[in-house]
Amino acid sequence: MQLEVQEKVSLKNFCTYKTGGQAAYYGVAKSIDEMIGLRNFAHEKQIPFMILGGGSNVLFADEGYPGLIIHNRMEAIQFQGETVTAESGLQLMKLLLVAAQQNLGGISGLANVPGTIGGAVYGNAGIPDLWIGNVLTHVLILPSNSDKPTVVAPEYFEFAYRESKIKKTKDIVLSVTMKLKQEPSIKIRAEINQYIKERALKQPAGNSCGSFFKNPNGFPSAGWLIEQAGCKGIMVGDAQISPKHANFIMNKGSATTADILAVASKAHQKVQEKFDIFMEPEVQIIPHNPFQKNNS
Ligand SMILES: Cc1cc2nc3c(=O)[nH]c(=O)nc-3n(C[C@H](O)[C@H](O)[C@H](O)COP(=O)(O)OP(=O)(O)OC[C@H]3O[C@@H](n4cnc5c(N)ncnc54)[C@H](O)[C@@H]3O)c2cc1C
Repeated sequence: MQLEVQEKVSLKNFCTYKTGGQAAYYGVAKSIDEMIGLRNFAHEKQIPFMILGGGSNVLFADEGYPGLIIHNRMEAIQFQGETVTAESGLQLMKLLLVAAQQNLGGISGLANVPGTIGGAVYGNAGIPDLWIGNVLTHVLILPSNSDKPTVVAPEYFEFAYRESKIKKTKDIVLSVTMKLKQEPSIKIRAEINQYIKERALKQPAGNSCGSFFKNPNGFPSAGWLIEQAGCKGIMVGDAQISPKHANFIMNKGSATTADILAVASKAHQKVQEKFDIFMEPEVQIIPHNPFQKNNS
């Protein structure tokens, strides 16, 4: 197996924010063997690594990433009756559409959540009444301490709102298996289209990572808190708190990651001052999350 690792690769084109510096090293994994090989490359070089899916929930520092970015392009999908097994680099939306062609639904609520299946499992992506963690039968992972792919049950992940255990363990999701629901394709497509329409009404179009902060317990939403704190529309450079949805911080064109973090910090601070609430970012800020309770 020939592994291709490039040096000094710009990350801007690999994330929906379109910001960030260069990765010291970058490689694409199209198979489990390549995934293992690339992770071993990082271990041997004693550099950090991270798996990149669709880049729709990451904000890369302008200084770049000092290790290896492993871009997950494992995309095989297989059906057996109502059961589907899909590799983690497949776009979640592609899974929905291919399943619909096979008259299999039951997961239309995940329509238009950008990114890959692996990224969705990592952050337990979804909508209030449907998280990906609820629809998994089992998952093939590459444990952080072993080169042996291992099947685990959904309980392994300890899923919660935008949380999974692998945020700490750093296991890699290789593939997922789900049991879907037999339904006419036309009904599934109509449901998917309805969810897409609802999203378009609520969410601003453009470069973002979706919701920037998690919704704190006991309040309507992070967006509501940011709006009440008077932050809708504020800008730093080309980064703006969306006038349409206050938890979306947009790159209006030439924003840097520093601009996005500056505008996010303003909202964070104003919400803390007004409501005494510490908002946790939902976006993965790479390599370090600056929103820590003791230094905010
Ligand atoms: C317009 C917009 C709307 C959005 N709406 C929603 C929404 O409704 N609900 C929601 O939950 N999210 C939403 N998001 C956020 C985003 O789509 C999800 O978090 C998505 O699941 C991220 O997947 P990704 O492949 O892009 O992950 P990436 O951004 O590539 O990675 C995110 C994290 O997952 C890790 N990761 C990725 N793949 C793997 C893997 N195979 N194994 C282990 N770790 C991995 C990465 O290392 C990183 O830490 C939205 C984003 C945008 C831009």
